[in-house]
Amino acid sequence: MGTMISVVLPVYNEAENLGVLVERLRTALERFAGDGFEVVFVDDGSTDASPEMLDALAARDPRLKAIHLSRNFGHQAALQAGLDAAAGDAVVTMDADLQDPPEVLASLVGKWREGYDVVYAVRRKRKEGLAKRVAYAAFYRSLRAVAEIDVPLDAGDFCLLDRRVVDALGTLGERGRFLRGLRSWVGFRQVGIEYEREARYAGAPKYGVRKLVRLALSGYVGFSSMPLRLAAWLGFLAAGAGFLIALWTALTRIFNVPSPRGWASTMAAILFVGGVQLVMLGVLGEYLGRVYDEVRRRPLYIVRSRVGFDEGAAAAPAGRVERRGRG
Ligand code: UDP
Ligand code: MG
Repeated sequence: MGTMISVVLPVYNEAENLGVLVERLRTALERFAGDGFEVVFVDDGSTDASPEMLDALAARDPRLKAIHLSRNFGHQAALQAGLDAAAGDAVVTMDADLQDPPEVLASLVGKWREGYDVVYAVRRKRKEGLAKRVAYAAFYRSLRAVAEIDVPLDAGDFCLLDRRVVDALGTLGERGRFLRGLRSWVGFRQVGIEYEREARYAGAPKYGVRKLVRLALSGYVGFSSMPLRLAAWLGFLAAGAGFLIALWTALTRIFNVPSPRGWASTMAAILFVGGVQLVMLGVLGEYLGRVYDEVRRRPLYIVRSRVGFDEGAAAAPAGRVERRGRG
């Protein structure tokens, strides 16, 4: 037996994409992996026809498997559910809307066979609206500037992970997951390959602005404490400005220079300092909320059912779901 490749795809209401997706995946995988692959779909609480379609697919092809989460846990949690269930020597994670073309799989696996442990796909160009492109560019560059790890620019969740990397990621119990950051954090030999990110094949994006902001915050908060330190710097700045103004006022009195009795300047100072304080309270709140989220130690996701996994293998990973509750 050769090696086994797992492909993990989170699915949230992607019924219109699944048919084409599976055909393209199968064709691409059979070309270089023969029968040595499995495709693990993680149904993230879909409310359309996706769950039934996945079960039907799994029933017809033993290489296709489905995990149904008990509700919508979000993309990152769904990805981790797939990583926990995948059995391959290498595991690829990709989107189910065909934005990540299955044809790129061959190059990912090629790099892995050359000896790399992490092969991440880097978007050459985004086929999305201007606003989204600007937001993404700003996010990746600012995160890179403040993060304590080296997060590659424009690399999303489309990547291949060696078994050792998957196991390493599985030991990280944090809930506010930002997998592309954790992926950098674990280390190993990493390499990027460029690819053309397609437009979504069908359906609407499942990431609303709120989910994107949450993900971005996970990136900052998870990999940098720079926003917290910002409070100190802004505090020094505001205090410094206040000191200079006080000095100036004293000098104008001593030398009897006529000076404006400033209502406006007083207001400005109060608003500025008040604003800085509130913003910094918000930053603290963001970190505190996440700390609270972590200490509760709830599992990252809950599995409702697994389809297409053979029973012997099913027992262990089902238990692994609770693994995060270790004391
Ligand atoms: N997805 C998910 N749970 C969610 C949101 C999205 O599993 O709560 C899946 C979705 O089905 C898709 C992938 O995550 O396979 C990426 O989502 P989307 O295409 O909406 O994100 P974008 O490409 O706009 O970043
Ligand atoms: Mg998409």
